[in-house]
Amino acid sequence: MTVTVLTTSTSLFFLAPASPKPTPVRIRFKPRASSSSCSSSSSSVQTRVNSSQPSSNPYTGVIVVGAGLAGLAAATRLSSENVPFLLLEASDEVGGRVRTDFVDGFTLDRGFQIFITAYPEAKKLLDYEALDLRRFYSGARVYYGGEFHTVADPIRHIGDSLQSLANPIGSILDKLLIASTRIRVLTKPDEEILTAREVSTIELLRATGFSDSIIGRFFRPFFGGIFFDRDLETSSRLFDFIFKCLALGDNTVPAKGIGEIPKQLAKKLPSGSIRYGSRAVAINSDRFDSPAVRLQTGELLRSELGVIVAVDQPESDKLLRPYGLNPGQRKAGRSTVCLYYSADRAEIPVRDPVLFLNGSGEGIVNNMFFATNVAPSYGPSDKALVSVSLIGSFDGVSDDDLTAEVVRELSGWFKGSSSTVGNWKHLRTYRIGFAQPNQSPPTNLLKDPKVGPGLYLCGDQVTSATFDGALVSGRRAAEALLRDRAVVRV
Ligand SMILES: Cc1cc2nc3c(=O)[nH]c(=O)nc-3n(C[C@H](O)[C@H](O)[C@H](O)COP(=O)(O)OP(=O)(O)OC[C@H]3O[C@@H](n4cnc5c(N)ncnc54)[C@H](O)[C@@H]3O)c2cc1C
Repeated sequence: MTVTVLTTSTSLFFLAPASPKPTPVRIRFKPRASSSSCSSSSSSVQTRVNSSQPSSNPYTGVIVVGAGLAGLAAATRLSSENVPFLLLEASDEVGGRVRTDFVDGFTLDRGFQIFITAYPEAKKLLDYEALDLRRFYSGARVYYGGEFHTVADPIRHIGDSLQSLANPIGSILDKLLIASTRIRVLTKPDEEILTAREVSTIELLRATGFSDSIIGRFFRPFFGGIFFDRDLETSSRLFDFIFKCLALGDNTVPAKGIGEIPKQLAKKLPSGSIRYGSRAVAINSDRFDSPAVRLQTGELLRSELGVIVAVDQPESDKLLRPYGLNPGQRKAGRSTVCLYYSADRAEIPVRDPVLFLNGSGEGIVNNMFFATNVAPSYGPSDKALVSVSLIGSFDGVSDDDLTAEVVRELSGWFKGSSSTVGNWKHLRTYRIGFAQPNQSPPTNLLKDPKVGPGLYLCGDQVTSATFDGALVSGRRAAEALLRDRAVVRV
């Protein structure tokens, strides 16, 4: 086999010939010397530098654009092969949509987010013990007919499950169908699930034989809350994948907030490899062997091996427009609003770490929970943190009106208890216009990451719109680049 050898001052790259296609072999890159843009001592690359000056040495091995979970996973994979890379992040922190704010002693995740411990890629990448995961009750409490009804996981809460058999959330047949759905998804490998023949979730539920009662009272608020899609138009592939993960794992949040997940990944990357405050505005592959990235500041960063775009879908549509993506045909992304309130911890109506769902078919609240019941560290010791989620963007409604409407609605939910929802203090409202891409059929959850020569795309728009999907997509993009571009062997 013939290979072309390109040496630079800092690394040794074996570029695969165009034809015939070589068998991919494992590569090992030497880390770049201190003048490299990946070095913490480099003048051009430093953590938390908001660079506005043109770089004196604007070359780097791989440029990854976007430090959400996908970009971090791509960087992690490159790092595991000692491939030099630079991770560009427009904001001041890693995580993208998975971030947490700390406000007056409260831990506020940017929107209601649950980490399912059975996510297969996450299991490989994350140290769960260090995340100090706090578990939700395996099931939910559904508000319907003016009272709450428990829906419990029969494997983990057999007693609750038996008691709930006769409740109005679904018939006994519905509960048997949940058990059979569990068996169906558990017996399929993930890849088969993600590539199976698909219909919408609502079509799948109806075809399975679920009653309108359980669809409206449980599936719409529960899976609608996960997909930000109460109409359940989202692909049955996503439904099966999430159902399987829920059956195998726990619903959790890290004790220090959901943002700990990306932070843990970032901590393992080489020092100085992430550059904050660096917004890419164009990817240019006209004049170079490998694409270059133009920053908002005007600075041009050239990659030696390639560029991995790991930004959210609206942003990648802009950056990659010249490469033939056609955003004109896209369905609108999914939106959510999350409101946080504080209450006196001694006065909240329930102590359980349980998720409450709106099964009534009325009102604007989809789901809510007392975050400090799940993770006491989410608030000061005497205060409870209440998290309330709405589905949609509520563009025409002011924050004040939303805040008041939520309090009015939840006062009805908890009217029998001695605590008064009217005393809750509003802390913050997060309006998340683009929470997830629209994943109604037809979907391709294993899209080819390659966009052009030396150019790759990852993020939840190329896989499933989940933490796990984003992580998988980042690894796959990095592996595609490594396969295409370079091998060191033997
Ligand atoms: C409110 C909410 C709740 C969710 N709940 C769950 C859940 O419970 N479970 C679950 O599995 N998934 C959940 N998700 C989905 C999950 O968070 C996403 O699928 C996943 O985080 C997407 O990661 P990503 O890396 O693809 O994109 P992002 O997180 O969007 O990361 C993109 C990064 O690129 C940066 N960037 C953008 N443009 C540029 C640019 N031009 N130059 C440089 N940097 C740029 C951004 O600042 C960001 O850091 C939720 C999402 C939201 C919003």
